[in-house]
Amino acid sequence: MSSAPLTFYNSLLRAVELFRPLDPADVRVYSCGPTVYDYAHLGNLRAYVFTDTLARTLRWKGYSLTHVMNVTDVGHLQSDADEGADKMEARARSTGQDIWAIARHYTDAFKRDLRDLNVRDVDRLPLATDHIAEMIAFAKVIDVRHCYLLDGGLYFDTTTVPNYGRLAGHLEDGREGRIDVVAGKRHPEDFAIWRRSAPGENRQMEWESPWGRGAPGWHLECSVMSRLYLGERFDIHTGGIDHREIHHPNEIAQNQAYHRACHGHADEAGFTGATVWMHNNFLVERAGKMSKSSGGFLTLQAAVDRGFHPLAYRLMCLQAHYRSEMEFSWDGLAAAATRLKRLVQAIGALRTRADAEEQNDALGLTPTITGRLDDFDQAISDDLSTPRALVSLDRLLALKNERPALLLSAAARMDEVLGLSLLSLDRADLRVHPANATIDPPAIEASLAERRGARADGDFPRADAIRHDLAQAGVDVMDGDPLGWDWK
Ligand code: AMP
Ligand code: ZN
Repeated sequence: MSSAPLTFYNSLLRAVELFRPLDPADVRVYSCGPTVYDYAHLGNLRAYVFTDTLARTLRWKGYSLTHVMNVTDVGHLQSDADEGADKMEARARSTGQDIWAIARHYTDAFKRDLRDLNVRDVDRLPLATDHIAEMIAFAKVIDVRHCYLLDGGLYFDTTTVPNYGRLAGHLEDGREGRIDVVAGKRHPEDFAIWRRSAPGENRQMEWESPWGRGAPGWHLECSVMSRLYLGERFDIHTGGIDHREIHHPNEIAQNQAYHRACHGHADEAGFTGATVWMHNNFLVERAGKMSKSSGGFLTLQAAVDRGFHPLAYRLMCLQAHYRSEMEFSWDGLAAAATRLKRLVQAIGALRTRADAEEQNDALGLTPTITGRLDDFDQAISDDLSTPRALVSLDRLLALKNERPALLLSAAARMDEVLGLSLLSLDRADLRVHPANATIDPPAIEASLAERRGARADGDFPRADAIRHDLAQAGVDVMDGDPLGWDWK
């Protein structure tokens, strides 16, 4: 098999470039993680299917990696641009719950969602609240040259670093568009490093600092934890496309300031921390971007409750390129579920044929199969083109004159990147019981067995009666279904 050059779209350059790791023996990746005041919605989960595809692709290309993702359990305000209350505190106040219990509950739920989506564990999943001391130490270093104190807390002066907002494209667009809501801020883009608790404000999470009792600004945690776990320079930083505008430019500004404190002016303008900044586009609904704050968003559990296997959603994500907007619809998810069933069925048929095969000796892959693997490799190496990679898989499974065992082994290779569990899923696993259904699968199977017996005995009235009873209960008997389903 040949190996195509690995390229990624770097948001810093707004261009696709060849990936050149800082240390090929240890590629270092940081992903902005969830804010744990609510369940993750399907849009958030798209971001993590993307980071998982990235990590799996790097491994497919032969790299070892260290992948870190933070959990934001403090500091994220209701608007990214320093407005509103802390999301965690607001949730605690509106529900009357303990903030630490909220964080634990939604962090656990997030981990379950990732497991259900076959998103592999990252190497570290640090919590912001476990790094308050490190954040204060970092802030002390950059305070000297880059920050100013207001009643509300310590603010970063974005004019003290060169090229502020380069990632967002602000240099070209001018510095407009941000609302200045904090009195005394020198520039609208300036942002909080440390937010002081207001007199009488009753925060559940607050800490002492040189700038008063309070809590860190949201952007600080990612600069501090990426540096702590990956070093001052690392390879790839990911997040949703919203982060390209505020959160990541602010991280870069902090990284530049800290770098200058350690190394002086050398290379200050070009220093960004990560070499490649990658952003997934949004999952949108007709009504607009799916967001937690707008309420009424869709969770993975909501899809499961409707009878969809979580991996159908994973496949739906892979069918779109990560940089394209993806529109959610139940029909779209149903189409992905059907595609997943077809894939699983094709693999199942290959497995049956492979088991019956006499020739069991392991042979090398044939040129045709290798060609399909090469196509797959080219697709994912081309800035993670998963839609094309899926076509390579379809074309592999469509090959007629190849030994099934070899096709299976090539499909397993591809699934290392796709993460669809194609070789371990069974058709029956894909039949998820909708939450509101009154039917009971074992009882249905029993009725179907009875109906098969009746048909075998020539008792067609009985068979039809059973079919009728099942229809009354909302179960369609599917004789001769091309996908081999007995009922739905
Ligand atoms: P949050 O939990 O709000 O901090 O967001 C977690 C991740 O999901 C971030 O990387 C966001 O940029 C990303 N994100 C938020 N909304 C969407 C969406 N509708 N589609 C895709 N990604 C999103
Ligand atoms: Zn972040």
